[in-house]
Amino acid sequence: MEINVLIVDDSAVMRKIIGRSIRQAATDILKEVYEAGDGLEALAELDKHDVSIIFCDVNMPNMSGMEFLRALVDTKHKGKPVIMVTTEGVEKTVLEALSLGAVGFVRKPFEASQLESVIRQALERLETPA
Ligand SMILES: [Mg+2]
Repeated sequence: MEINVLIVDDSAVMRKIIGRSIRQAATDILKEVYEAGDGLEALAELDKHDVSIIFCDVNMPNMSGMEFLRALVDTKHKGKPVIMVTTEGVEKTVLEALSLGAVGFVRKPFEASQLESVIRQALERLETPA
């Protein structure tokens, strides 16, 4: 199995950090890492590439992570696993994201090992079609 990952974050530095951790966590299966600076760019990237898993920030200009989750269900990409990466740990944000279809949560700052476990969980979902 090979996976392509899309990292959505308005911070280029954070995209690099997340990308590096994903490369460490999924070296054996990772093919491509794509990047987007906000939800709108993310939707455009999804139309261009075959993306397996999306890592998405919450606070972004133009289209936030929550707005992206809402927009995603109206596209053919509905159901793609989205893992939220955020500094916010408030339960309300987590519950809202999960209710909008997010499959996991990673809190910044994170350890590479945490990313590894959420990637593994997301992959299990990919391998087990609902
Ligand atoms: Mg942000």
